[in-house]
Amino acid sequence: MRIDLHTHTRASDGTQTAEELVRAAAAQGLDVLGLTDHDTTEAWTAAARIATEVGITLVRGIEISTRHLGRGAHLLAYLPDPTYPPLVTHLRKILDGRNSRVPAMLERLRGAGVDVDIADVRRAAEGTAATGRPHVADALVALGVVRDRSTAFRRYLNPGRPAYVNRYAAPLADMVRIVDEAGGVSVLAHPWGRHGPDSMPERSISELAGLGLAGIEVDHQDHRLDDREQLRAIARGLGLVVTGSSDHHGLGKHDHDLGCHTTAPEDYERLLELAASASARSGRPTPEVIGP
Ligand SMILES: [Zn+2]
Ligand SMILES: [Zn+2]
Repeated sequence: MRIDLHTHTRASDGTQTAEELVRAAAAQGLDVLGLTDHDTTEAWTAAARIATEVGITLVRGIEISTRHLGRGAHLLAYLPDPTYPPLVTHLRKILDGRNSRVPAMLERLRGAGVDVDIADVRRAAEGTAATGRPHVADALVALGVVRDRSTAFRRYLNPGRPAYVNRYAAPLADMVRIVDEAGGVSVLAHPWGRHGPDSMPERSISELAGLGLAGIEVDHQDHRLDDREQLRAIARGLGLVVTGSSDHHGLGKHDHDLGCHTTAPEDYERLLELAASASARSGRPTPEVIGP
């Protein structure tokens, strides 16, 4: 069984439609695909339709933008009721913050002598609910200002760079609780990928586990090998599920091919069991796993 639990479509910052992503996953021989666009469930319906058609198992989720210890942290939420009001409210605030952030970024880019028009960003973001930094980056690439997305981030868009603008993100602990109340399960996405262990110390993970965190995404391209082993030990020690996934963005991110990291079947089964009991506890109408 090949299980990849973290991927993106054009509904956030991937480059594939839901249909293209699900077909590509089936063509790659994946048995289970997790769809986890940033802060939106927009691609869920289309993905479910194609998954049924091609006979792949689809686990619907959201990668939620949160904040922890003063830094951004991503939380994967699987199978929550997407109509649970506190979840809806937070996702709306996150998306609003992101959309209003683009004009502010363009203003700062102009201040740095780089002229990008909102129309350039809209073109780069065609078909997307949330425009954000990746689309500004794509516009910079399209205009020939930089060679690729990662250069755009490094030079202009990362924290501390000239065009960086802060935005709303939900407190991580609150979001773990909200996902649980919505009948879903949460997994820390690449917790040491960006800022290393200091940004997500074991103490924090242990506290989150007490609030209902189900797992840690350990096997991820952004984690160093020794960090993976340490995270795996922390997860095992706290009784958390260990996941591995590609964080595939189509052509939007290099070295994140579908299935480049996968989740063990027993961890996947355990995650589904935890989701089933969260769903039963919550009494919410949670989404089903689609599939054969
Ligand atoms: Zn992420
Ligand atoms: Zn992601």
